[in-house]
Amino acid sequence: MTPALLVSSAVFVMGACVGSFLNVCILRIPLGQSIVRPWSRCAACGLELPGFLNLPIVGYFMLRGRARCCGAHLDPRYPVVELGTAVLYTALWQLYPPLLFGVYACLTAGIIVASGIDLDYLVIPDALTVGGLIAGICFSYLIPELHHTQNPTDAMIQSVLGATIGGGVLWITARTATWLLQKEAMGMGDAKLLAALGAFLGWPSIPFILVISSVAGTAVGVWIIKSRKRKLGVKIPYGPYLALAAVLWLVGGKWMTQTFLLKISSE
Ligand SMILES: [Zn+2]
Repeated sequence: MTPALLVSSAVFVMGACVGSFLNVCILRIPLGQSIVRPWSRCAACGLELPGFLNLPIVGYFMLRGRARCCGAHLDPRYPVVELGTAVLYTALWQLYPPLLFGVYACLTAGIIVASGIDLDYLVIPDALTVGGLIAGICFSYLIPELHHTQNPTDAMIQSVLGATIGGGVLWITARTATWLLQKEAMGMGDAKLLAALGAFLGWPSIPFILVISSVAGTAVGVWIIKSRKRKLGVKIPYGPYLALAAVLWLVGGKWMTQTFLLKISSE
């Protein structure tokens, strides 16, 4: 095993463990429970579990999707989040220097939790969105490389600009939709989430995130309405699509957009 492969494997395992913790956050943050004590507990019967029963990813399959304590069905989302975080962290590790990897690992952890809570409750807690916005601006000042510059002030301006454009566009969209439909059409949580993403990723990411998230959201929305014969007007969370688009930006959208713009400008 080469050292590089060894480190990548370690990052994969770390990602799986972080994913396991993110599952706990998704379950407990909306209920106002502590995310560290007890460290692990059966989601169905509440029994406290020794840590070794909670092997990320493989644990779910070893237990055949059932809780050992009470036999309750385990949500397949647990291994999906664990595997997803592990794969994502491994990809980010390959793509970015360690410092940027650290920041993006925190960012993706936050947006995975935000997506999970949005799917369950159709809200995203301010602690994640407003907290993420403040963290994004602070990180930008401390690590200006996030915005391809060495100057902390420039990076902070980029960050604030990204937050304002991202949050502003969705805020105006939400206001307009509410006014047109005469009812709340879109939560402000989505605007705050895109503001936080803009603070980390800068304004150039915003058009990409808006396009990809709308296309993905519309496709899945149409599919849900058709397959479940649900009425139009049913609430569909938008946060997970914003999160998905932000992740795609980090793992390739950034470079795709750059190449595309260079091609257009050279023609
Ligand atoms: Zn149980």
